[in-house]
Amino acid sequence: MGRACRCCFVPPYLLDRIARSEDPEVRERARVSATLSRHARLRRLATRAAPGVLAVQPEPATGAAAGREVWDSSGTWEQRVRRVRAEGAAPTGDPDADAAYDHAGTVRDYLRSHLSRDSVDGHGMPLLLNVHYGVRYMNAYWDGDEMTFGDGDGRVFLSFTRSLEVVAHELAHGVTQFTAALEYRGQSGALNEHFSDVFGAAISQHAEGVTAQDADWLVGNEVIGPQVTGVAIRSMKDPGTAYDDDVLGRDPQPAHMDDLYTGQDDDGGVHINSGIPNRAFVLTALRVGTPAAMRVWYTALLRLWATAAFNDAVSVIGACATELARTGDVPAGTPDAVREAFAAVGLPR
Ligand SMILES: [Zn+2]
Repeated sequence: MGRACRCCFVPPYLLDRIARSEDPEVRERARVSATLSRHARLRRLATRAAPGVLAVQPEPATGAAAGREVWDSSGTWEQRVRRVRAEGAAPTGDPDADAAYDHAGTVRDYLRSHLSRDSVDGHGMPLLLNVHYGVRYMNAYWDGDEMTFGDGDGRVFLSFTRSLEVVAHELAHGVTQFTAALEYRGQSGALNEHFSDVFGAAISQHAEGVTAQDADWLVGNEVIGPQVTGVAIRSMKDPGTAYDDDVLGRDPQPAHMDDLYTGQDDDGGVHINSGIPNRAFVLTALRVGTPAAMRVWYTALLRLWATAAFNDAVSVIGACATELARTGDVPAGTPDAVREAFAAVGLPR
């Protein structure tokens, strides 16, 4: 197993910006969310002294599908406080617990039926989901063996469990951890974020029955609250245009290598530079369809490695497109579509 990231849905620079809001309530929630995220990270890392050993050893899956377990943090900053729903159990009546359960099931079924993958680790790993974490916590994250969701403050962010895309994005961090294990900083980290956005888009488009042409390609639009004038946290199709707002500031994502972020914030821009490969994925999907593009990208994820940079991804994704086109698994024009998509964002092969 690769080293676990603590991969948050809302980037740290966004929470820091919200923490400067004029609204004292919003400011306070953002500050607490940002601070407690960092503390939680340190605590989690401390429990991981032995590399490759999970903090909790989940029960091995006995049935055909990985079991889901939903836990209610009940407003505490702890995980696995109270188990409210196990696999196959009746709905709890709590919309957040039930949404987390349903969305995790949709992701699990997609992995199995479309990618022949048994859960995030490929071996039926149980899916542990914590809901109602903290007080109006403005984030959701994967931290190596489970998922955790805040309720949001209801103004800037809504509950994170309500979005299939958020759940798919976070579980995809698990898939990456058990495959390429892309290091969560710099370009490899941006690729890690990129693959999660790709899974989120592909799975939500499949569930909603929309094509690449009809999709909005927005990330996080379902959790943006009423106090924000932006449309989403990221736009895969037009990076840098998701928001320009008093509360959130301006979307910093580049759409081309000319504008690559080279600073130290956000682990070296993992949520920023992901805009560049994201746009290449969209351009490919617009030509060959999201399912074919997803097949190519997933095959590449199985071959990439921890320190892979953008150029490595371009060559591995290109090689996978060529192989899959030769076997007839994707349309014949896919290799050209991939090459031209990456060239359009400044990544010629
Ligand atoms: Zn992420």
